[in-house]
Amino acid sequence: MRHEQRSPADPLTALLDRVRVRLRDLDDGEPASYIPELSRVDPDLFGLSLCALDGQVYGSGDTRVPFTVQSVSKPFVFALALADRGLPEVLARVGAEPSGEAFNSIRLEPGTGRPPNPMVNAGAIVTSSLVAGDTPEARSTRILDGLAAFAGRPLDIDEAVYASERATGDRNRALAYLMHNAGWLTGDVEEQLGVYFRQCSVLVTCDDLAVMHATLAGGGVNPVTGRRVVAPRHAQHVLAVMATCGMYDASGQWMLKVGMPAKSGVSGAIGVALPGQFGIGVFSPPLEEKGNSVRGIAACHLLSDQFGLHLMRAVDPQRRPLPPRSLHGTPLRSLRHRPRAQRAALEAHPDRIRVHVLQGDLDFATAEQTLRVAHELAPDTGWFVLDLTRVGRVEPVAADLLRALGTDLRGRGARMVLADPDARQALSRPADEFPDLGRALETCEDDLLTSVGLDPDAPVPLSVCDLFGRADERLRPALAEAFDTLHLAAGESVEPPAAARLGDRIVLWYVESGRLAVCADAAGAVSPLRTWSAGPGAALTPADFPARLARQVLAERDTACRTLTAAALARMRTRVPEAVAFLERAPLEGAETVHRP
Ligand code: GLN
Repeated sequence: MRHEQRSPADPLTALLDRVRVRLRDLDDGEPASYIPELSRVDPDLFGLSLCALDGQVYGSGDTRVPFTVQSVSKPFVFALALADRGLPEVLARVGAEPSGEAFNSIRLEPGTGRPPNPMVNAGAIVTSSLVAGDTPEARSTRILDGLAAFAGRPLDIDEAVYASERATGDRNRALAYLMHNAGWLTGDVEEQLGVYFRQCSVLVTCDDLAVMHATLAGGGVNPVTGRRVVAPRHAQHVLAVMATCGMYDASGQWMLKVGMPAKSGVSGAIGVALPGQFGIGVFSPPLEEKGNSVRGIAACHLLSDQFGLHLMRAVDPQRRPLPPRSLHGTPLRSLRHRPRAQRAALEAHPDRIRVHVLQGDLDFATAEQTLRVAHELAPDTGWFVLDLTRVGRVEPVAADLLRALGTDLRGRGARMVLADPDARQALSRPADEFPDLGRALETCEDDLLTSVGLDPDAPVPLSVCDLFGRADERLRPALAEAFDTLHLAAGESVEPPAAARLGDRIVLWYVESGRLAVCADAAGAVSPLRTWSAGPGAALTPADFPARLARQVLAERDTACRTLTAAALARMRTRVPEAVAFLERAPLEGAETVHRP
């Protein structure tokens, strides 16, 4: 029976779906038949699961179909032996060198007869004998409970596979007797073999394998249960031996091409752990000649290749991934000077614009965390702003996931907006891109205002603005007359008020239409560092132009302003002193509540 898991809206699940669908028709290989019970499996079963280190499990296909763990148990039993005996005692009985031979090779260390490593059958038979327990039953229980702790749920044994393997396992029996003869395996050989066969017959699913490997990738803590299963150093030892020996005589090629510690089993299972990032489980029974799952290998190659997951990829030491910061709670506003009605409308919708700040290199883990944040956005969020200003390299897998997120958000009626000075084309397709967070936020706010019926670009002549509305009827002509008119064409710039001679200095600057931006660097800079902007209805005073942050005032569009100079104010003071008194009392629209840098 097929258990298709589907949630196509989730970008990571969609990615796993794509990998699985691409490989579904790959029909090379045969299920293992040397253990007769294993050959009865449906060869078309195919599941792919991934568990992130926050415990989230993603899956595609037959991810909940049980199968026997087989050799994928070996790293975990090795971990339990390390926990119970310590590395020196385990290494004294089992080597840590790749054998370059098949999983069931009879070759033991020349001279000593010691098994080469814990990932081949010989070594695994010895490591399961090293797990704590006075009797074979006690060791079996310790192993079953240990595997369950790695999986985060109780596990059972497939008694039919166990009986089948025990009845036909003469090659393992021969190996065990050789090692018993050399002194590496102590106690009753048949009983030790029973412990090993039972460990191989534990039933797991693809999801279990993903969680088990995520536990190793996370340093020994199960990310689903939060329980520590083994010490960090033991998880590290296991991953190291998996990296060099996990894929038997294909281990070198595997490390070269896939570059992630992995372990395969003859049931068609492959488990993969990328340290610090995630665990993967793949299940597809047909095997190639070395006993590894054909589709499992192909899936791992595809994931590693396409998404840049190789452990040895160069990482810029200056740009290590840092945890992303999500800004919520206090809504973030742009530094645009806006009239009162616009500010009130923005404050009335605090959740509609959400900013997520990323820093360092973007890898799988940071992208996955971002997906989680996006998944939990308030239902009325319309704009998800990703601040990439402090991001270094974007790994292919992160680019792929974020692109998919952009499409996904669009499907949910929201937009992904990027603030990215590097204009990374790779990400921008489903998103809107701006060179800095300020411009990204301003645009989202403008869109929000438009959506609630306010046009942020509609001209607001001085005569109808709030300030004039509050002035006494008799004072209005004097006020109107005192203001000069200043027209700036798009792209034109003027010096900030502080640069003007005293009498010409503007003491009140009102924007009727268009857009002004204030830039922190001098005219002519390639990309002026924009500090704030002002649109129609904004009134600005000299305090809004601090010398350090306002070197240049630039019209970003054709702009009409009304300006009041110090000289005009002085004239008005002698002629209509009440008008000046009114101006000095009036809280200036736009100027009183805007955040200043
Ligand atoms: N139980 C199997 C055996 O011992 C395990 C081998 C494997 O999965 N590679 O033959």
